[in-house]
Amino acid sequence: MKKIFLPIILLNMVSCQSDDVADNMAGSVEIADVVLAHFKNDYTDGVSVQVADGNITISSTGLPNHKTPYWGAGNEMYEDFPEGYHANVNTSMSAHNYRMTIATMPAASGNHEETTLGPIGMAVNGVPIYNDREGGNVALDALTITTFDYSGAHPGPGKDYHYHTTGRYTTVDDDHLVGFLRDGFPIYGRRDQDETYPADLDTYGGHFGTTSDFPNGIYHYHASNVNYLNTGYYILKAGAYYGTKGTFTQ
Ligand SMILES: [Zn+2]
Ligand SMILES: [Zn+2]
Repeated sequence: MKKIFLPIILLNMVSCQSDDVADNMAGSVEIADVVLAHFKNDYTDGVSVQVADGNITISSTGLPNHKTPYWGAGNEMYEDFPEGYHANVNTSMSAHNYRMTIATMPAASGNHEETTLGPIGMAVNGVPIYNDREGGNVALDALTITTFDYSGAHPGPGKDYHYHTTGRYTTVDDDHLVGFLRDGFPIYGRRDQDETYPADLDTYGGHFGTTSDFPNGIYHYHASNVNYLNTGYYILKAGAYYGTKGTFTQ
């Protein structure tokens, strides 16, 4: 009898493993669902999402759905700069043709590529997310930050409006979903779902845990909890990606 039991136990173990794989696949479907549920821009009508062949492609104009001085004086969406802040060189923004493609099943990367100048992700309103670097790939300095609006954003020389930090219309001091980085993992505000500041972030600024969108848990980034140069802005993401970088064309 014992000789019969052993193969049955092994078969049960195999079937358990199959269930684990199925659970992981169900989790990945959620990513596409979360992207479809959150990515929109009611003001510019410039965001669309396609899910096909294991990839999620998000297209956008990159124009925000909220107030900023970069809409230009007289525009209904115009608001002033924060006190002491002002347009420096780039005083306007324009629509672009952005396309970010991420995997429906993102995974940790073996080499953890560094983020670089330019888009490293996309906010849920279609605005590109940049890291803590500016032209010349130097760290943002206090003078450059004086060109930020209330959203920690400004256009570059290509009139390409983008977020570097937390801000009034994305996340201030909360657990809001900001968007997704190019490696397919979501980025949230400075707090976790339980309102605490995460204390176990890894070198990439993320950790595994539950969020309001992923109750079963997912690897996710958080905005930095460091008041950058004492400006009141908090960098969204610096350093290397946790996962493998997808494409972002413009
Ligand atoms: Zn910039
Ligand atoms: Zn978290």
